[in-house]
Amino acid sequence: MLKRLILTIIAFHVLVFVSHAWPPETIDVGIFHDRRPSGVTIIPASGAYKLTDAGGGIICELSLHESVRIESMGDHLAVSWSDTTVYLRGEMHLKGIRWENFFIVRADGIPYRIYDDDLIIRPGAGGLSFVNRVALEKYIAGVVQSESGWSRHPSFYEVQAIIARTYALRNQQTNGHHGFDLCDGVHCQAYYGRTAYEHIIEAVYLTRGEVVVDVSGNLINAVYHANCGGETVASEHVWQQAEPYLKQVFDPHCEGQPGSTWQTTIGQEELFSFLAGNFGLVPNASQRSQILSFSQEQRTHYLIPFRQVSLRFIRSAFNLRSTFFTFSHYNDQLFIQGRGYGHGVGLCQEGAMEMARKGYRREEIISFYYQNVRLTELHGGQ
Ligand SMILES: [Zn+2]
Ligand SMILES: [Zn+2]
Repeated sequence: MLKRLILTIIAFHVLVFVSHAWPPETIDVGIFHDRRPSGVTIIPASGAYKLTDAGGGIICELSLHESVRIESMGDHLAVSWSDTTVYLRGEMHLKGIRWENFFIVRADGIPYRIYDDDLIIRPGAGGLSFVNRVALEKYIAGVVQSESGWSRHPSFYEVQAIIARTYALRNQQTNGHHGFDLCDGVHCQAYYGRTAYEHIIEAVYLTRGEVVVDVSGNLINAVYHANCGGETVASEHVWQQAEPYLKQVFDPHCEGQPGSTWQTTIGQEELFSFLAGNFGLVPNASQRSQILSFSQEQRTHYLIPFRQVSLRFIRSAFNLRSTFFTFSHYNDQLFIQGRGYGHGVGLCQEGAMEMARKGYRREEIISFYYQNVRLTELHGGQ
């Protein structure tokens, strides 16, 4: 216990050295990231909000159930409430001013969503952009809800909370976004707003501050996917970068789960015109039949190794669920039988769900999918 405490203190101080506010209390998430609505209505559903301009000047206060309408006008925002409209240059902040604050967002063309804490709205030529400045642990709860849904085993929710937290803290400055830390899509982690689901909130609270570190005590890149199809993929086969904790794992737990198999059909000529267009490849009859009979018992990485035609290219070109597939053909059709769902690196969510149902604890599940890692607490909890 003492050793763990000392390690925690050391880890904490090392991290404080590189960043003054670590772990951060809040995180900035770019929401509606792939949409740029031109107008939005916001209604506090708990607490109350203060609306300010970028310099902190107060525009108005918004009580429970009062609404404000914001529209994009070039580099200005038109902000309307009651019978007043003001025009702002630059961004606007909505800041919660009660103990618990959350609000409903009705963005044009998007079903309404509910978010915790604060919001920053920025005008832009293509429409509005939004940043949810949210308490880290509330964000984690929202991610667990968006990434894993309802009615999961408590240990699985704990695992998902820990890896979502680890992923967020490790990637918040490095995922290539400007003006916020992480986006709300699968590029970073799915986050479609707050959750009030008590089983998720319990798991987040129970594991608060808990993260996964490697042998050197550094946060791991805690990537995950829906189903590995029976074996995970070492990271270097997907992103070039090898990591000692992202190696291939044979996974008996995800078999028979919803994402474990899939099939689809494409025209053979679609495949061959893709190969011709992207690789200048015009195979002769025997090469064609070899390609059309491509199969993998265990995972491989190339459809045509000597031309560097990777299965990753094929997966993204034809929007396939995974790279773990086998071809068969009839007439001019190509039948694709696949296993797994997602990139296959790191933790397999459906396997982890099954391990949780079988009684494995969160640290056992995490150590099964990530090698030579341990759980640690970044801080004493808050
Ligand atoms: Zn992102
Ligand atoms: Zn699996």
